Amino acid sequence: MSLIVTNIGELVTNDPEHNVRHDAAVVVDGDRIAWVGPAAQAPAADLRLDADGAAVLPGFVDSHAHLIFAGDRAAEFGARMAGQPYTGGGIRTTVAATRAASDDELRGNARRLVGEALRQGTTTIEIKSGYGLSVPDETRSLRLAAELSAETTYLGAHVVPAEYADRPDDYVELVCGEMLDAAVPYAKWVDVFCERGAFDGDQARAILTAGAKRGLGLRVHANQLGPGPGVRLAVELGAASADHCTHLDDADVDALAGSDTVATLLPGAEFSTRSPYPDARRLLDAGATVALATDCNPGSSYTSSMPFCIALAVREMGLTPTEAVHAATAGGAAALRRTDLGRISPGARADLIVLDAPSHLHLAYRPGVPLIRHVLQHGAPR
Ligand SMILES: [Zn+2]
Repeated sequence: MSLIVTNIGELVTNDPEHNVRHDAAVVVDGDRIAWVGPAAQAPAADLRLDADGAAVLPGFVDSHAHLIFAGDRAAEFGARMAGQPYTGGGIRTTVAATRAASDDELRGNARRLVGEALRQGTTTIEIKSGYGLSVPDETRSLRLAAELSAETTYLGAHVVPAEYADRPDDYVELVCGEMLDAAVPYAKWVDVFCERGAFDGDQARAILTAGAKRGLGLRVHANQLGPGPGVRLAVELGAASADHCTHLDDADVDALAGSDTVATLLPGAEFSTRSPYPDARRLLDAGATVALATDCNPGSSYTSSMPFCIALAVREMGLTPTEAVHAATAGGAAALRRTDLGRISPGARADLIVLDAPSHLHLAYRPGVPLIRHVLQHGAPR
């Protein structure tokens, strides 16, 4: 079946030549975009979606989310807002709850979050493991993630679990060995939380190198809580993305700008930990590719909303609304090394959203307002 989207007030394509088009129509054939051009020249199609003068954008690509977990940490959030610092140690609370949960509980919670994200315009979402931290629990986390997304990430190196606290190198060996073997059938990517209190540069290098040898693509949680080796390690090893990038020195920025490692910024984490935001303006001005993602997780960023992240990036991180929308769509696609996502042009996957607004500017201009009127995912209305 083919479908034409007509009466588009503003079409954001992410095509560098014609990023924002007016009087355009889009034709979808099956799960792909078949045609984009002036409405007056549009070919016929079986079905018609009238955008009623609204803006049409690529679906959001959320390239960083932790959706396989049980429980929540609202009390920890409340305590933090009352003045307690964030250290990352609360991850172990979620690990205990996740290990105790059934497959159906974990599956149900992750499905709920994917649905929540979809209603807010997210048509692709990456899903990490990382709250199992044992061979069976990481394996089932990835098996459940793979039911919901093709973009699955093995994050056995999220923190050292309590039972390995006095012998972290043994845990790194497990993550690089038996746990990796079990993860590989379900994972596309490997990720490491490279941070003081989690994994240092040498440990992160060992884990990423072991994952790469098994054919996994690389991602790194880097420079979130303080300066460190994560960003430069990500660039050196050719990672698709260095995520967080909150504490960067000039050499980190230069390394990102001179590479095809995307700087993925996660402003929900700074919001939820009341921390200084990363400087997206500095990264873009230096020539780095910037993505925005939610970091959806129950501890440090319990939001599935890309529009919320766009609004924060505009208000707090120096991006224009157009740059923030680009980072939330084409940026996320680049962070997942997907050339078929994050753009509205022939051959791309037919993932697009129709806003309840005449322009993409409204996403940041009207924060907190549900502005997603229609979602097409793989060409199908959702
Ligand atoms: Zn994360």
